[in-house]
Order: sequence, then C-alpha cells, then structure tokens
Amino acid sequence: MDTQRFDVIIIGSGISGLAAAAALAKCKRRVVVLEQHFQLGGLTQTFQRSNYIFAAGVHYLGGVAQPQRRAELAGRLLHWLSNGKLQFKAMPSSYDVLQFPDWRFEVESSASHFAESLGRLSLYDRAALERYLSARHSARQDLFALLLDKAMPGTLLPRLARLRYGRYAPDVLQTSTAQMLKPFKDPRVAAVLGARWGCHGMVPSRAPFAVHALTTGSYDNGAYYPVGGPAKFAKTLLATISAAGGKLRPRTKVVEICSAHQRVSGVRLENGEVIEAPVVISTMGARQTAQSLSSGEALAWRESLATLQPGVSCVSLYLGFYGDIREYGATASNVWIYEDEEIGRIWEKPTQEDAPTLFVSFSSLKDPEHPDPLHHTAEIIVPCAFAPFQHWLQSSVGQRPVGYKVDKIHITQRLLAQFKRHFPKLAPLIDFYEISTPLSQASISGSDQGAMYGLEMSAERILHPGLRLQTPVAGLFLAGQDTTSPGIAGALMSGVLAAAHVQPHLWWRVLR
Ligand SMILES: Cc1cc2nc3c(=O)[nH]c(=O)nc-3n(C[C@H](O)[C@H](O)[C@H](O)COP(=O)(O)OP(=O)(O)OC[C@H]3O[C@@H](n4cnc5c(N)ncnc54)[C@H](O)[C@@H]3O)c2cc1C
Repeated sequence: MDTQRFDVIIIGSGISGLAAAAALAKCKRRVVVLEQHFQLGGLTQTFQRSNYIFAAGVHYLGGVAQPQRRAELAGRLLHWLSNGKLQFKAMPSSYDVLQFPDWRFEVESSASHFAESLGRLSLYDRAALERYLSARHSARQDLFALLLDKAMPGTLLPRLARLRYGRYAPDVLQTSTAQMLKPFKDPRVAAVLGARWGCHGMVPSRAPFAVHALTTGSYDNGAYYPVGGPAKFAKTLLATISAAGGKLRPRTKVVEICSAHQRVSGVRLENGEVIEAPVVISTMGARQTAQSLSSGEALAWRESLATLQPGVSCVSLYLGFYGDIREYGATASNVWIYEDEEIGRIWEKPTQEDAPTLFVSFSSLKDPEHPDPLHHTAEIIVPCAFAPFQHWLQSSVGQRPVGYKVDKIHITQRLLAQFKRHFPKLAPLIDFYEISTPLSQASISGSDQGAMYGLEMSAERILHPGLRLQTPVAGLFLAGQDTTSPGIAGALMSGVLAAAHVQPHLWWRVLR
C-alpha cells in the first residue's frame, strides 16, 4: 500500500482549509490539502456554463476593506495569506435592498445612515431602535469573544483574547431575534431588522439574537466583493501554498481518519491509499469528522456531536442574461424579496407553493473585472426544508431518478415565474438557467442535508463542549464553519486558529 508523510494533512479546500494550509505553508510546514471534489475551493468555487460564470457560496462579505485596520481581522488575515493579491470592491452604499409586498427599504453601509433611515420610518420607535442597535453591538462582541474563547487551548490564551476582544456574557445566547424585535411599535422597523436571517439561516423566532447580531453587524463598515470573483480566494491562497511546496489533491476523498489510543496518525483515502501525518486538520464538518474516526476512538465525543442538527438547506437558481442588464433595472445591490409581511418563513413545499423569500444577487455587476459586458449572471437563493428532497438522498449525482428530475423542473418553473414577476424587464434577456437543490449542495460541500452553513447556529451548538478546534484525539483539529460561525470570515478565522494550534506564534496574527 502506498504511504506518504507530511507535517499536516488538511481535509477540505474551502476557505477554512485553504487558510489553514496557507498559514502553515508560510511557516514552512509540509502540508497537503485533500479535496473530494474535482475543483478546489469548496464554497468559494465558481462554475461555468456556456458564457456564464456563477458563484456557489459567496455574494458579499464585510470586514475586508482596510487590512491595515486592527478591527478588520478577516481583511488583515486574507491580505497576509494571499500576499496582498486578494483585493475587494465595495458594493453600492445601499448594498442590500429589502423588497416587501408594498414597500422597500435600502440598507446602507454607513451604520449611522442605516440608523437614520430606520428612525425616519417610525418616529415612535427611535428610543427602542437606539437600545436595539446598542444591544446588537454588545451581543456581536460577546459572541465573537465566546467563539474565540472556544477556539483556544489552555487558559492563558483565552485570557489574552478576553483582554483584546472582551469577555462574553453567558446569557448572550438565551434571547431570540424575535424577542428583541417585540418592543417596536411599527412592524416595518421590526421587519427590516429581522429580515436578513438568510445570512445565518435561522428564522427570527429561533435564532439566538447574538447570531443575528454577529452576521448582520459584520456589514456595518460596508459590504465587499472579491475583485475577479469568488474563485480568487482559492486562486490566491493556492498560489501561497504551492509556492511554499504544499501539495494540493482534488478528487481525493478521505474515508477514514486513522487514529489509535486517542492519537491521530493520518488518513485513509477512498482508493485505499494511506497518508501519514502527526497532525490532521479537518474542515469536512464536525459530525462528519467524528464519524470518520477509526472505529472505537472517541466514542463519547462522536455520540455527543451526533445530537447537533444540520442548519437550513437551500435551492439556488442560476440565471444567465444576454444583454446589458443594467439598462433593465439590475444593480450590484443584493435584493431580498419577501412575498408577504411574514419575513421568517422557510420554503417547506417547493413543488407546491411559491418561495416565501428570495435572495437575488447579480454577481457579474459586482466584479469590476467581469470580462464581458453582454453576458451577465444572477444567483437566486431560497432557504428551504430538506424533507422534500429526503427520498432522493440515496441516489447519486448523474443517476437521480425521474421523479427527482420532474420535481426539479417544477421548482425551476416556479422560481423562474417568481423572478420574472419581480424583474419583468429582465425576463426577455434570460438566456440560460439551471437549478441546484440541497442534494447538489451536499455533493459540492459534503454537508449533511446540503445545509448552507453546516450545523445549525443554535445555542446548544455554540455552547457544545465538544465543538472546539481541539478534539479529544491528540493531533486532530477541527476547522470550518461548524466551529466558528457561518460565512467566509468565520470559516477563514477557524482555519488560521487551527493552524495556530500547530504553530503557536500564529496566535499573534489574530490577537495583536
Ligand atoms: C448558497 C450559499 C451562499 C452563501 N453566501 C455567502 C455570502 O454571501 N457571504 C459569506 O460570507 N458566506 C456565504 N455563504 C457561506 C460560506 O460560503 C461558508 O460559510 C464558507 O464558505 C464555509 O467554508 P468552509 O471551509 O467551512 O467549508 P466548505 O467551503 O464547504 O469546504 C469544505 C470542503 O471539504 C470538502 N470535503 C468534505 N468532506 C470531505 C472528505 N471526506 N474528503 C475530502 N474533502 C472533503 C468539501 O468538498 C469542501 O470542499 C454562503 C453559503 C451558501 C451555501
């Protein structure tokens, strides 16, 4: 049997895996990145159909504008990992447009403008709004400190982190977003503040307020898009890894994390090949990682993680337009469409009812390097239940049964009709469309139920004692969105933090 040795094996080439690999490669560690999919990049990957290029899982992010600013941790880390090659373009100042049945609201990137325009919506709610925004600021900081605390080993570093980022209040997760919205007299203010739950995947009645605060507050200094498109994340970080001698292996599925006596020794691949290393960083998902351990290892840990639930699934419709869509109403702002005033609904029956909420991103308009003024794209994302897709789960890509294909056609037609209703002038320009379901999502990222953001961001998950970067198996570390928070910034940070467990001077990169 073929056997190879590395200092560190990284499972998964999403932003967390690439960040861990690039950080360690920069520290002269011999790393190998193993990726099950044929394309590297995980959810940062793009894919091409005819003349159209689509983004799988990045539409905007915050905290990256000024890498020299101490507070912009994600930007600072990306700048370092990409050797300054990754650049970002600011989205329009109204970066999110919320479209309700009879009115709309533009969310502005300046926090003070946002507060002012909300205040104009309802004079009676100004005091409540002030209290809400202040609570959002504290909750965001609290949750960040808690997540950082859980990512660190021992006791000294968490103490340092608390000095740098503050101490979290234990009750920060006990209040839901919906509870925080109750004091508002004007339902429009509550609707605006609760609307963008799609950024973390939990509806307001269930989401811990701190989770909503962390994700929506991440855009308080503006929203950005990678110049050259999301594929630039992988392109620039892969260059760092390769230049330092790191190895990259797409189409390489890990089926077992080899360990004995609670110490990791390497991984076994689908083809039987074994790769040895004293350290393994797994970004394939916390539950998947525990389930992949050699039998008999860390059973209690495995069982405790099995109780955690996957988060919301999604359906995405990819549209290609021939023509200049800017002339027909499309802009670089995201459009969140709510079909009725009830903003917190997941699409439960996609073959039988219209989607309650649509997130529309005209990605080609966000990228200043988009090469072709006549070929444009939109991604339309709808958070949905997994149950309607459950019975097709056992089938494999390319061999799905006819029933699944028929369902897909119905869902596509329904979503297309909804899109055309909202953007009638763009309808004649549609030249291409394709849909992806939670099953497609599962095959790209390996996530349970094709969950958009991995494990559900419940209080139980966040406080789960087994969900730390350091696992009970010596040398095995977790990283990825399951360990920190949904989104590029959280996953990126988890990768660097996991690398810091291996190369301790990297803590300085985060804590300085
Ligand atoms: C539709 C959608 C839209 C989104 N929009 C945004 C957005 O606008 N802004 C934002 O910040 N975030 C967004 N996100 C979330 C963001 O994309 C993720 O939080 C982030 O990319 C997760 O990174 P990761 O490294 O944890 O996981 P992933 O990118 O999923 O990487 C994990 C990798 O592990 C690989 N893998 C799994 N199992 C194995 C195995 N056994 N062997 C080898 N490899 C394996 C997978 O193939 C995958 O490549 C979106 C997500 C979705 C789904």
